Amino acid sequence: MRAINPIGTLWMNGSTLKVRFMGGNASQKAIAREQAQWWTEHANLKFEFGTDPNSDIRISFDANDGAWSYLGSQAKEIPTNQATMNLGFLDGGTAGHEFGHAIGLAHEHQNPAGGIQWNEAEVIRVLAGPPNFWDEATARHNVINKYAANQLNDGTVFDPDSIMLYFFPREWTTNGIETKANEVLSALDKAFVAGAKMYPKTGPVVDNATLIKVNDAKRTSAEIGKPGEEDLFKFKASTAGTYTIETRGNTDVFMKLFGPNSQTSVIAEDDDSGLATNARIARPLIPGEYFIQIRHFNQKLGTGKYSITVKKN
Ligand SMILES: [Zn+2]
Repeated sequence: MRAINPIGTLWMNGSTLKVRFMGGNASQKAIAREQAQWWTEHANLKFEFGTDPNSDIRISFDANDGAWSYLGSQAKEIPTNQATMNLGFLDGGTAGHEFGHAIGLAHEHQNPAGGIQWNEAEVIRVLAGPPNFWDEATARHNVINKYAANQLNDGTVFDPDSIMLYFFPREWTTNGIETKANEVLSALDKAFVAGAKMYPKTGPVVDNATLIKVNDAKRTSAEIGKPGEEDLFKFKASTAGTYTIETRGNTDVFMKLFGPNSQTSVIAEDDDSGLATNARIARPLIPGEYFIQIRHFNQKLGTGKYSITVKKN
């Protein structure tokens, strides 16, 4: 598998993501909608375009601000009056590229497997000019800096056809690497987002998350059988109070809590607050339905059995 997804940026598999336009004309919006669907044909996600002020993805069309997007669920950290994506231009597959970021894909040229050796001075010089006008820090953030292997959900092979790759000429590198303009999803882009590491249509989805009974005397058992697998649980908080969600077992799991009545609003995340390397989240919650996502801390190697409980004090 190819393409790269930084750990911690995935939406829950099967999520419906609300998208709100902040400006833009009819033709700009039509292009954005059309290219967003390039991904949902393959990934187990849906985009719902509307006017909800709390939309997960918010798109501005500021012609002076280039084209950019936050990565996946990092968008939830942005105040809801601010855009999480800007489409300052829409040439070719630009909106498709930015929606790739919005579902959690990083730049393919920042894949450590690419082996690109940048001519840093040249890259910084060109990107300081139109249409980007980036300062050096931004050029390094978007182009030059590579991810470390342990920051990635995957990324072993470089995909020269990925829509997540920038077009750049040979002068930008010192080892002869250049790229062509990729205006559509590559075969590997499609396969990766539909695969087990991202949004498989056959994987556990939020609509059939395993129900946990609050204060159930019997622990709910589960197992992460394959590296990168996610388990999804849900519970109902029928009254307000402090709820404690906790895992037990010998496996180092990572927990995320979403809600109320939302598959995309992250309330808390935890790695090791429980016993040994177990996860534990205790939070005052209002009544509603909540979702819990469990994955292994080490997505490349981690598997194992564990159990989970939800208790209300
Ligand atoms: Zn980009």
